[in-house]
Amino acid sequence: EEKDSLNFIEQIIADDLAAGFSPDKLRFRFPPEPNGYLHIGHAASICLNFGLGEMHNAPVNLRFDDTNPSKEEQEYVDAIKRDIQWLGFQWATECYSSDYFQQLYDWAVQLIKEGKAYVDQQSAEAMATQKGTPTTPGVAGPFRDRSVEENLDLFERMKAGEFEQGSYVLRAKIDMASSNMLMRDPLLYRIVRKAHHRTGTEWCIYPMYDWAHGESDYVEQISHSLCTLEFKMHRELYDWFLDQIYDPAKLRPKQREFARRNLSYTVMSKRKLLELVQTKTVSGWDDPRMPTISGLRRRGYTPDSIRKFSDLSGISKRDSVTDVSLLEYCIREDLNKTATRVMGVLDPVKLVITNYPAGKTEILSAENNPEDPNSGTHDLPFSGELYIEREDFKEEAGSKFFRLTLGNEVRLKSAYIIKGESVVKDAAGNITEIHCTADLDSKSGSGTEASIRKVKGTLHWVSIQHAIKAEVREYDRLFLDEAPDSHEDKNFMEFVNPDSLKIIKEAYLEPFLKDATLDDKFQFQRLGYFTLDKDSTAENLVFNKTVGLRDSWAK
Ligand code: ATP
Ligand code: MG
Ligand code: MG
Repeated sequence: EEKDSLNFIEQIIADDLAAGFSPDKLRFRFPPEPNGYLHIGHAASICLNFGLGEMHNAPVNLRFDDTNPSKEEQEYVDAIKRDIQWLGFQWATECYSSDYFQQLYDWAVQLIKEGKAYVDQQSAEAMATQKGTPTTPGVAGPFRDRSVEENLDLFERMKAGEFEQGSYVLRAKIDMASSNMLMRDPLLYRIVRKAHHRTGTEWCIYPMYDWAHGESDYVEQISHSLCTLEFKMHRELYDWFLDQIYDPAKLRPKQREFARRNLSYTVMSKRKLLELVQTKTVSGWDDPRMPTISGLRRRGYTPDSIRKFSDLSGISKRDSVTDVSLLEYCIREDLNKTATRVMGVLDPVKLVITNYPAGKTEILSAENNPEDPNSGTHDLPFSGELYIEREDFKEEAGSKFFRLTLGNEVRLKSAYIIKGESVVKDAAGNITEIHCTADLDSKSGSGTEASIRKVKGTLHWVSIQHAIKAEVREYDRLFLDEAPDSHEDKNFMEFVNPDSLKIIKEAYLEPFLKDATLDDKFQFQRLGYFTLDKDSTAENLVFNKTVGLRDSWAK
């Protein structure tokens, strides 16, 4: 698919190529930290990086930025790989920052020998105070001018595990008066006494993000290292670190920044998503209300819909919030073209067709998808006892009610025209049965004149004796506030929507659905799009509502 215009990052690369950069040196990476599941924000970065790879036929590495063992886990590595592949992308090489620990250590030793790094043992508070403020220069701490020998010895002993967690750090010796606070002797290493998911207890010193990231880009010979705007100020440091180790015969990576994707009515930071999981506010990272890729997948979103959303929401230079209704638009458009049309009744009331022969069953033919002429049909059993939605019937109603009333006709989808005749009520006055007569000549598709007769409404239904019982889960926004984590005086957890999950224990579905698989997508006619949930068993089918048919969130 040709793109009609380039986003500004794609333009930067096009300009580099125009200026003579060799296309076979293009190489990108997607660098998640394995401390949580991927979310729809990551999808922007994935689509950008892998999209560039596709556009230029260039390799894209998957780099796990695994430099903090206190938050990282193999479970997250596995989930991240699954989600990227599900989105339809394939990385060239699976890389880990931890594979470069020895190289990073060696480079740090080199910096010490060159007098560009030193070991510090002050408290974090003391170091922060010495750093000064953006408007006042910092001052040198008491350990800034240790001898090279002493620094080498201490760093070696840090690595050997002689010191407590948090007691010593290695710092770059740059400029305590720099206008960029990040250049005021930033940390390179800290001691973390925790086993790493890949290197075990081999290391107890771990490189800081800034030190590890650019050097990893260099090791992998990444041409364009794309990151989000909060790293803009880090670019100077990224370049300084590269300056120290860079071989001019090799490619020198460059960092470029784009705006994070934010989505309305949710939070996106992994720390906050983890809090939702740990507090059991949701059932897990893949809860269908989560903005995670795995949650969206379980909800019924398709890879195409997420890639389409990435296209439409774009890559920008400034932070902005994309309305979640755009995401819903993308899945609705996709499912309209692909989902199999079926019928299910979520709030059933019994309907009896009094002139339909008792005990008779017929197998009707239901169109799978009117949007797709090649999609075929499936069998749909009909009988004289049906369920329809309770809200589709009123004994009497005004002319704006296009559903069933006493004395008026509607069509049963793919079946007959029926007319409301009478009701049966229980002692409390609730309707327990609706009695109708059918125009037995009006069967859809039979070719009779009555089969094409127009009536004011069409209802969905299921045959009671053929229907299968299922659980249906409907979802609303997880948060009641448009920007739950933007309030200074309130924690985002205060905005959790207490009614975001509605469970319907006894829905009745047409029997075609009993063979549904997790990949199948359905439109329950007149209700919305649904997909099988992973909690489903042969005895207890569970369906998730992906999205309604119309934009119900429009303001
Ligand atoms: P979080 O705050 O959610 O933990 P992060 O940036 O720490 O986000 P990483 O695992 O480091 O998460 O992200 C991997 C890549 O995805 C990085 O390049 C990051 O810039 C990018 N990314 C993360 N969140 C977003 C977002 N909301 N929009 C666009 N890109 C994102
Ligand atoms: Mg990060
Ligand atoms: Mg993070």
